Amino acid sequence: MKKDYTLLFPDMCEIHFRIIKKVFASFGYKVDLLKDSGRAIVEEGLKYVHNDTCYPALLIIGQMIHALKSGRYDVNKVALMMPQTGGGCRASNYIHLLRKALKSAGMSQIPVISVNMSGLEKNSGFKITVPMLRRALAAIVYGDLLMLLSNQLRPYEINKGETDAVVTKWVNSICEMFDSKHGYSRREIEMVMEKIVASFDRIEIEKREIPKVGIVGEIYVKYCAFANNHLESFLAAEGCEVMVPGLLGFLLYCVDTRIVDIKLYGGSLFKDKALNKLYNFLLDFENILYNATKDNGRYVTPSPYKKLRRMADPLISRGCKMGEGWLLTAEMVELIKLEYPNIVCAQPFGCLPNHIVGKGMIRRITELWPEANIVPVDYDPGATEVNQENRIKLMLAVAKENLSEYNIR
Ligand code: SF4
Repeated sequence: MKKDYTLLFPDMCEIHFRIIKKVFASFGYKVDLLKDSGRAIVEEGLKYVHNDTCYPALLIIGQMIHALKSGRYDVNKVALMMPQTGGGCRASNYIHLLRKALKSAGMSQIPVISVNMSGLEKNSGFKITVPMLRRALAAIVYGDLLMLLSNQLRPYEINKGETDAVVTKWVNSICEMFDSKHGYSRREIEMVMEKIVASFDRIEIEKREIPKVGIVGEIYVKYCAFANNHLESFLAAEGCEVMVPGLLGFLLYCVDTRIVDIKLYGGSLFKDKALNKLYNFLLDFENILYNATKDNGRYVTPSPYKKLRRMADPLISRGCKMGEGWLLTAEMVELIKLEYPNIVCAQPFGCLPNHIVGKGMIRRITELWPEANIVPVDYDPGATEVNQENRIKLMLAVAKENLSEYNIR
């Protein structure tokens, strides 16, 4: 199957997934990232998934069925990859919705592969091995660094397009390194990151006082441009600097909460040891990422995970771990502390957990940090883009007022 099949994977983070695709390829898998977007995908999703199902599931399933019907793939030589978070939230069950949709569309022969680290589903033809995991994690830390640096320079660059050109150059170089089985050991990552930061240091910029906006929310809607109606581009066009918390923090949160579950409710000793090993491994990677920019006065460096974790403590219990859980609240507090007090909280409509840990926390946050200027924005099949943009523009109007009146960015 590995030789003949094409694996289809929903695109989420543009920079990260371009590198991760290469990781799968280096292990002999042929992967295609699904990038189709637009109303046709939503309509396709609505045909197979109930409209009160999580919006991310509706979009991902719609995108997959749309691709299968497009004629681009041999439906007898294709498999679908579906990420599963493994938590108590509905994301762990998307895979069953997809299988049901395939059956209704008359394509039940297509295998569905679960991508998870919690042993939820076993796949006969596909296995996440330790070397593959190692490379995928390296791809994530590289992606986080490129996203962090480019977001902080792009709005101020003197030569338009230079930042994106540097990002593309590094994505290609990292992919080439992975091809030649280099670039993912601890030492190599440190060295490559040093070079990446040096490349970004050479980009000429002209600093201006512009609104600084953070983006938090449900993981898919937060990162996927198709799902959030190109939120980052919209904010850039409105003259803002954007900060999006990295993907590694979410992975640490997922592993950490599994460890807490075992402590509270019991579980196998083997699983506990394996999770702790992975947790420490991720912390080590985070350390490399943190060190890459912390002493460079040019960039704002996000806090390490353990510090971030403490930031939500005055507001919410760490027991709140459905969806993005307390992490979402912690990210909002951190953004305010990093002087990104303007925040868009991107939430799929009907996503109960994130309405509690996101929208539900806003009042308390603004009591503690009056400079916070947060707008929750719902994303669902019926929401109009204009409505979402108007809500964001109102938030930006306040941001611009604060900028001139109190010099708050
Ligand atoms: S976090 Fe929200 S959107 Fe995601 S699976 Fe849970 S309920 Fe659905």
